[in-house]
Amino acid sequence: MIDPEARNALRECLGARIEFDAQLSRHTSLRMGGPADAIATPADREELCALLGLCAKYALPTLVIGAGFNLLVGEEGLRSVVIRLKKLRRIERVSDDLISVEAGASHATITRFCIDNALSGLEFGAGIPGTLGGWLAMNAGIGVREMKDVVREIKIVGCEGKRVSRIPRSMLEFGYRELTGLPASAIILSAKLQVEESDRAKVQSEIDRLLAHRQSTQPTDTPSCGSVFRNPPGQFAGQLIEAAGLKGSSVGAAEISSVHANFIVNHGGATASDVLQLIERAREAVERETGIRLETEVQIIGRSPGEDS
Ligand SMILES: Cc1cc2nc3c(=O)[nH]c(=O)nc-3n(C[C@H](O)[C@H](O)[C@H](O)COP(=O)(O)OP(=O)(O)OC[C@H]3O[C@@H](n4cnc5c(N)ncnc54)[C@H](O)[C@@H]3O)c2cc1C
Repeated sequence: MIDPEARNALRECLGARIEFDAQLSRHTSLRMGGPADAIATPADREELCALLGLCAKYALPTLVIGAGFNLLVGEEGLRSVVIRLKKLRRIERVSDDLISVEAGASHATITRFCIDNALSGLEFGAGIPGTLGGWLAMNAGIGVREMKDVVREIKIVGCEGKRVSRIPRSMLEFGYRELTGLPASAIILSAKLQVEESDRAKVQSEIDRLLAHRQSTQPTDTPSCGSVFRNPPGQFAGQLIEAAGLKGSSVGAAEISSVHANFIVNHGGATASDVLQLIERAREAVERETGIRLETEVQIIGRSPGEDS
């Protein structure tokens, strides 16, 4: 709970752009997640820094999220001020081969910008739902290309909102679906991404090809968080789960997708605890069959179901 003095200060700073005791299920693609102490959507960078300053002053934990496409949040919610950057979404071309993108820009806006300006290089992101901030934090990608291949520098702000730093690509450490080595709780503000001039129809047709492939291989019309598990070296988690006979296995309204076994879908009303049970079921079955222990790719945040508050 946020005490009344801190609440007033936050409300004075953000007005209607902060909601207290707000449900996270409205902000996750799995449509799950209990209340956060507050969800803030700052209007611009200055307001974000002021918000971070207040959170530091009142010792309120913060968590920045993107569009929630890779999050599993428990029903118990989160004792944090959750920060969404969707109003920081400017994209501009800064040179022949670089665009500057703010962290809250969505995959759809970035893709549209590239098509409209006939820029190639980011087609792979068209079907990876989220925001630039989430793409970078997760080193999002497909087999052939990831964010690490296109980012040239990022700008971050420290958790107290006081210092903005520019970090060149050479100082960034990307791993499999992760970006490590940033200062603790740093928030990505923007990035410069490498592109190249191309032909608009060519860019569009590559995007169409990639999206059509997804439509035929993934359950794109049912709420999910994308791949639940990381692929073990040289293997595909989905194939291992399918081979263990778990396609279509369910707990409540959560189901290991019958289209792609590395996706868990919410048919309506599933809870995080249902999903966690399926995660354990898949993990145990695959370990039993193959000796491989699957690691989650989805970010599990908040208190686990059943944990004392
Ligand atoms: C149908 C579907 C298909 C998918 N396919 C793919 C795929 O092919 N490849 C792939 O890689 N992923 C895929 N995903 C997963 C997801 O799209 C990516 O992980 C994406 O990067 C999530 O972006 P987001 O903005 O929604 O981040 P969120 O899910 O909101 O957050 C993810 C992480 O990023 C951190 N974060 C977000 N913004 C910032 C910021 N500004 N500064 C610091 N940290 C930040 C959050 O704290 C969190 O730890 C898929 C998901 C779905 C639902």
